[in-house]
Amino acid sequence: MEIASITGITTLDYPGELAVTIFTQGCNMSCDYCHNKHLVEVKKGTISWQYCIDYIRARINMIDAVVFSGGEPTIHRDLPKKIQEIKNLGLKVGLHTNGKGVVFPEVDYLLLSDPKRLNRFKARKVHISTIIKQNGEYHNKLTEGIFQ
Ligand code: SF4
Repeated sequence: MEIASITGITTLDYPGELAVTIFTQGCNMSCDYCHNKHLVEVKKGTISWQYCIDYIRARINMIDAVVFSGGEPTIHRDLPKKIQEIKNLGLKVGLHTNGKGVVFPEVDYLLLSDPKRLNRFKARKVHISTIIKQNGEYHNKLTEGIFQ
């Protein structure tokens, strides 16, 4: 996994939980509206996984969760292994994804921008981030049985 940065403690990336967010480097799309364009290029990251783990361990009593965002975390084949490492620390895991990657891990919270990919993931809590949200009937049809 190539990692560009890790945030301080945030309430923004996992609704209702205190989290730190790991921003992965590289994306398989190039959206006009992207507000993380510096994370789109597929290239080496700037911080190591060990740095992230040490950073998280130092804050473990202050946070509930770790979120993987990007960039596109699911292009990194070792994402499930990294997620398991976070779960082993007793933390929840969130994932922000366009759903078009190569791995589809089970997480506690999923923020997904392509509702057609929803059935690839398992998550306790899901938010769909596209304009499709504005069509309530379609949104409910897509997500029936998935929300808690
Ligand atoms: S999928 Fe997300 S990170 Fe990738 S280009 Fe689009 S908005 Fe940016």
